[in-house]
Amino acid sequence: MAAPEQLVFAPLGGVGEIGMNLSLYGLGDERRRQWMIVDCGVSFASEEHLPGIDLMFPDIRYIVEERRSLSGIVITHAHEDHFGALFDLWPQLRVPVYATPFTAALIEAKKASEPGAPDIDVKVVQNGSRFHVGPFDVELVSMSHSIPESNALIIRTALGTVLHTGDWKLDQTPGVGLPTDQDKLRRLGEEGVLAVVGDSTNAVRDGRSPSEADVAKTLAELIAAAPARIAVTTFASNVARVRAVAEAARAAGREVVVVGRAMERVAQVARETGYLDGIQEFRGPDVYGYLPPDKVVALCTGSQGEPRAALARIANDDHPDITFSRGDQVIFSSRTIPGNEKAVSSVINGLIDQGIKVITDRNHLVHVSGHPRIGEVEELLGWIKPSILVPVHGEALHLSEHAAIGKRLGIPNVVNCRNGDMVQLAPGAPGIIDEVPHGRVYKDGAVLIGADSRTIADRRRLGFVGLVTVALALNEKGVMLADPEVELFGIPERGKDGAVLADIALDAVHETYDSLPKARRRDPDSVAEAVRRGVRGAVAQQWGKKPICHVHVLAV
Ligand SMILES: [Zn+2]
Ligand SMILES: [Zn+2]
Repeated sequence: MAAPEQLVFAPLGGVGEIGMNLSLYGLGDERRRQWMIVDCGVSFASEEHLPGIDLMFPDIRYIVEERRSLSGIVITHAHEDHFGALFDLWPQLRVPVYATPFTAALIEAKKASEPGAPDIDVKVVQNGSRFHVGPFDVELVSMSHSIPESNALIIRTALGTVLHTGDWKLDQTPGVGLPTDQDKLRRLGEEGVLAVVGDSTNAVRDGRSPSEADVAKTLAELIAAAPARIAVTTFASNVARVRAVAEAARAAGREVVVVGRAMERVAQVARETGYLDGIQEFRGPDVYGYLPPDKVVALCTGSQGEPRAALARIANDDHPDITFSRGDQVIFSSRTIPGNEKAVSSVINGLIDQGIKVITDRNHLVHVSGHPRIGEVEELLGWIKPSILVPVHGEALHLSEHAAIGKRLGIPNVVNCRNGDMVQLAPGAPGIIDEVPHGRVYKDGAVLIGADSRTIADRRRLGFVGLVTVALALNEKGVMLADPEVELFGIPERGKDGAVLADIALDAVHETYDSLPKARRRDPDSVAEAVRRGVRGAVAQQWGKKPICHVHVLAV
């Protein structure tokens, strides 16, 4: 008997965490499934836990193995947590990537600035269009969000229809781009939907998000009232916000100076795709110094405290073109992403120390989230009335609050899943039927390494306790042919009693060697291990910490 056809959903990233969204949809029987990937996102690592690592991606080895039955990748929108892993992961997959014009243009612009980026096979699809990805009949639904062209996907199959919401909210005045296509969603509800796979980010917050138009109004008031220089920092991809700042600047008779490469790139792409139509030309940072303080608005990258971005350099007073002084103002038109708090405070403190007034969303409506609060989630689920709800895009708390909304609304099946779970959506009762390989990979320089590789653990240990290296030359009889070489890295010069730790280590090498019976001295591995232990013990006694010790025995 043939195995039954199934429709499955398996997230490899973004479920139980914020960032690196990557989901699989599979159709067919267990041995012959056809796959589609939705989104291919990145996460940014914080320095303390992962020394030397900036980026991490979902581990995609499962779908790499299934590559021959993978039909394509659909990108919902051009936020880094949805498309930022494409350049690094696509070469292992090499299938068409479906993206709307703005997203496709950003992929292109990013490629131009990253030497060696792969030639991704991007298929441009229009907003609201319908196309096939293998056996999946996919239709785009425009959703308002904090970037132009965020799309929900209607995924129609013979076993039922899934609405994959992507990132969304119900803003009817989103500033740029299309508002959420409520008519299409209502019609979809009437057509009948098996499952909603939905954004949980703000399912912990009551009510509804304010509109982007409310933020634009606040920005216009603040910019009009500013006595001297004023800067706004925001996520470069938030084109509506860029537009709001430009309109506020024009109304106040100020020029917009764009500072930071990411901001320049997005502004360029937004112009090409029509999202800045009617907006004055922006100026480069080189003209900033020539403009009177009340005739300029600086639009800067660096809202997350990124140390190399424009704002951090301004706060440290080491930007080549842009300076601020007492009485100037900086607006953070952004929210601090969890993990970036320290970096952002350090930038804010640097600005305040220079006498600059800092305005954040703590006291003014200068930012709204792009994600739906409880009232909006309820409204969408009310239109769609799915029989299954799968909360995704969030940490455990967000997912469970989203699940609670579903239960409250009487959705018959609410599936609580995590990365690596394979969820059967149809036929029959939904549930987790399998676990697929999953995890994280880190980008270390130009190389991808597994999260379980020793590299990072070693590096972290090195960061705590430093390193002693010992080199010994022994002949075949185990006789030492020269003085041992000992070097210390990242270890204090003197121990608690004032002894020089390098001398302590060298003495320990000699003492350990001398204490070994002659027979053992002929075995290089045995000598190395004994010396390693001896050195670590002796240094620890004086230092209070055990260093890493590497002994190299040269047998000559
Ligand atoms: Zn997202
Ligand atoms: Zn997003």
